[in-house]
Amino acid sequence: MNQDRIDALRAVPLAPFQHVINGCRVSASDAGVLPVVSPVNGTTITTMARGTRKDAISAIAAAREAFDNGCWSEMAPLARKKVLLKWAELIEANALELAVLGVRENGTEISMALKAEPMSAAATIRFYAEAIDKLFGEVAPTDPAFLGLVHREPAGVVGAIVPWNFPLMIGAWKIGPALAAGCTMVLKPAETASLSLVRLAELALDAGVPPGVFNVVTGEGHVVGAQIAESMDVDVLVFTGSGATGRRLLEAAAQSNMKRVYLELGGKSPNIVFADAPDLDEAAKVSAHGIFRNSGQVCIAGSRILVERRIHELFVEKLTAHAASIKVGDPLDVTTQSGAVNSERQLRQNLQFLEEARSLGRKVIGGQQILQESGGFYMAPAIVADTARDDRLFQEEVFGPVLAVTPFDSEEEAVKLANDTRYGLAAAVWTSNLSRAHRMVRKIRAGLVHINTYGGSDLTIPLGGVKQSGNGHDKSLHAFDKFLDLKTAWIKL
Ligand code: ADP
Repeated sequence: MNQDRIDALRAVPLAPFQHVINGCRVSASDAGVLPVVSPVNGTTITTMARGTRKDAISAIAAAREAFDNGCWSEMAPLARKKVLLKWAELIEANALELAVLGVRENGTEISMALKAEPMSAAATIRFYAEAIDKLFGEVAPTDPAFLGLVHREPAGVVGAIVPWNFPLMIGAWKIGPALAAGCTMVLKPAETASLSLVRLAELALDAGVPPGVFNVVTGEGHVVGAQIAESMDVDVLVFTGSGATGRRLLEAAAQSNMKRVYLELGGKSPNIVFADAPDLDEAAKVSAHGIFRNSGQVCIAGSRILVERRIHELFVEKLTAHAASIKVGDPLDVTTQSGAVNSERQLRQNLQFLEEARSLGRKVIGGQQILQESGGFYMAPAIVADTARDDRLFQEEVFGPVLAVTPFDSEEEAVKLANDTRYGLAAAVWTSNLSRAHRMVRKIRAGLVHINTYGGSDLTIPLGGVKQSGNGHDKSLHAFDKFLDLKTAWIKL
């Protein structure tokens, strides 16, 4: 990564961003705009269209028409694949520009954003493009007097509502399999991470994705998002975000056309460290990274460390040393390891969790707000030792660089504490005992259990939650299940 090139890109003035609907850039129907405030320095860097319900309706109509006329869903798989591969290529060619644009808006450190955002989005779109002509239907083993065929058909118009922490990566986890399956889409980015997704939609048009197949409508969740969720013309709704919004989406689906809803709602993921971990230094380093990268704004962040009591003090010391060594600051400096918190509101919430922990007498290490001369929203990584199971910090997702540490005495207690939240997204176990590792994988209620590592998985494995972390899966070939309907034909021979 070239710092000079990044500095040049960060200084580029940004024209107002518009929706991308039916192949065109359009303003909000009432010409409204929202300011785009950069967490890097707290200044307004541009505006984006403040979508109305009318805008969402027109995007959904465009996606409906594009689906029904078959320009995409009935395109030969090989041709659809070619277009998506071209799109992936364009994303890669514009990767640094996309990454810097995204960081200016959401504050993720560029060292991570380049790989995790455009490069990951390109890889995801390519992964699903390559699978298009390898998805077969079935011939059922029926009575020979009949022929039973099982077709897999695109489900229709997909509504996607995505969050601000990794807009391109998480967006692509929805876009890739949906478009590869032949569906069309209306996507609503988060209010504080919209620009790079608008740019992605423009690149889709350049790649030859037909107008109306991929539409992006920017604006507020309770307006644009709500309209998508309530629409009678959206067949599938996919979402990553908070539990409160997920609940609203389920209600809206129930009250409209009972569209299928797939939710990824974050977690309070336990990272369990036994005294027999193969390498405690490595465990501390990876665990610190597992919570503090992107300022803790990661769905699968290992935000609760459960540590065997006899190594509790030692492990907190090691974690503290790693946390203190993390370079927090300007996210567009290539040497920064943890950038800005996404918004002032998010920063206040993080600090409030720490205030509460202090008032309960917990030991809070780090976590101070960092005031930069340039402005912006920054805080140091925080570790809260001796967090108890009833503390809000043990139960609720902070979505910030705040790590709760809780000691345990036995494997049984570790399992109990691990499962003692309403979430079930990710987990980790550090141990040298193979049998214990497998026992823990079985007993922990989570969609993803790491052993002797944290994070860093690839596209080949599914990601999805259990309990109130959601349903359905992003990534892997299983993601197609959300966007393909089974249709059977029963033929008398
Ligand atoms: P967070 O609190 O982390 O921002 P949200 O669930 O509020 O999480 O946001 C995730 C996405 O959901 C964003 O794109 C946001 O605009 C959208 N959203 C928020 N409220 C609603 C709503 N009432 N209906 C539909 N989408 C919503």
